[in-house]
Amino acid sequence: MSGAPARRRALYALATSDRFEAAARRLPVAERAAWSRASRYVAGERFEDAAAVVARLRSDGIAAAVDLFGEAIDDAGRAHAAADAYVEVARRLPELGAGATLALDLSHIGLDVSTGLCRGHLERIAEAASPVRLDIGAEDHSRTDAALALAAGLARTGAAVQMTVQANLRRSVEDWHSLVAAGAAIRLVKGAYVEPPSVALRFGEETDLAYVRLAHAIHGAGAALALATHDRVLREALLQTLDGAGVEMLLGVRTDEARGLAGRGVPIRVYVPFGGGWFRYWMRRVAESQGAHR
Ligand SMILES: Cc1cc2nc3c(=O)[nH]c(=O)nc-3n(C[C@H](O)[C@H](O)[C@H](O)COP(=O)(O)OP(=O)(O)OC[C@H]3O[C@@H](n4cnc5c(N)ncnc54)[C@H](O)[C@@H]3O)c2cc1C
Repeated sequence: MSGAPARRRALYALATSDRFEAAARRLPVAERAAWSRASRYVAGERFEDAAAVVARLRSDGIAAAVDLFGEAIDDAGRAHAAADAYVEVARRLPELGAGATLALDLSHIGLDVSTGLCRGHLERIAEAASPVRLDIGAEDHSRTDAALALAAGLARTGAAVQMTVQANLRRSVEDWHSLVAAGAAIRLVKGAYVEPPSVALRFGEETDLAYVRLAHAIHGAGAALALATHDRVLREALLQTLDGAGVEMLLGVRTDEARGLAGRGVPIRVYVPFGGGWFRYWMRRVAESQGAHR
C-alpha cells in the first residue's frame, strides 16, 4: 500500500469521526485554532457571512453556489429541521443578487431516512428557491441510485437542477444519460469519497481519463456542463475544446486562478458553504490539499 492512499483514508476516517470532532472542538483554544485554518474554505457561520463572500466574489466576476453545512442525517425530525433551514436560505437568495445558486446534499435533508421523505423536502426547497437552480451534491456510492432518481425526477418537473457526477465511479459512464435526458445540468467532479475498487477507479490517471471521456460525452450530448476541478491541466485541456463549458471551484482553493478564469470570460462559480458544521468539511479539504488522494 502506498503512503498517499493510506494517508487519505486516515484523514477521511478523522473527517467522519464524531469523537474526533467533539474532542477537537471541546476546548475553546483548540476550536479557535481549527477555525483559523478552516476559515479559508468556509464563509462563516451565518447567512450574512455567506452574503459578504458572495458579494466579494461577484466584484471579481465570479458567481457563487451557497450551501448550508450538514450531511448524513438519519432521523426524520432533524431532516425536517434541516429542510426548514434550507427553505429559509432559499427565501433569502434574492439578497445575494442575480447568479447565485443553492447547493445541497440529499443526505442532509433525509435521504437516509427515506427517499419519499427526502423527495418532499427537496421539492419544498426547490419551490422556495425557484427560479434559482439547485445544485445537488453526489455522496458515497451507496446513495447514488436514490440521489440520481431524485435529481432526475425533480428536473423532469421543470425545476432548474444541476446534479453532480463523480468521474471515479465506474457507473457514471451510464448514469449521466438519465440526468441529461431529464434536463439536468451536470457538475463533473473527480469524486471525494474513498470507495472500494469494485465500484470506483483509482484516483490519479484512471480517474482523470474517465473525467476527460465523461466531459466530452456530456458536452457532446448538448448538456450544460461545469468542470468542477482545480486540476489546471485537465481544465485547460478541456476548455480548449468544450465551448460554453463552465468551471466550478471550492472557496479558498486556487483563488487567483478563479479570478483569472473570470477575466478570460469563462463562466466560473465558487462553492460557498456556511453554518456551524464546518469541522468535517474542513477535514475533507485538508485530505485533498495534501494530495493524499494520489
Ligand atoms: C464545486 C465543487 C463541488 C464538488 N462537489 C462534490 C460532490 O458533490 N461530490 C464529490 O464526491 N466531490 C465533490 N467535489 C470534490 C471533488 O470530487 C474533488 O474531491 C476535489 O475537487 C479535488 O479534486 P480536483 O478535481 O480539484 O483535483 P485534484 O487533482 O485533487 O487537485 C488538483 C490540484 O488542486 C489543488 N487542490 C485540490 N483540492 C484542494 C484543497 N482542498 N485545498 C488546496 N488545494 C487543493 C491542489 O493543488 C491539487 O494538486 C466538488 C468539487 C468542487 C470544486
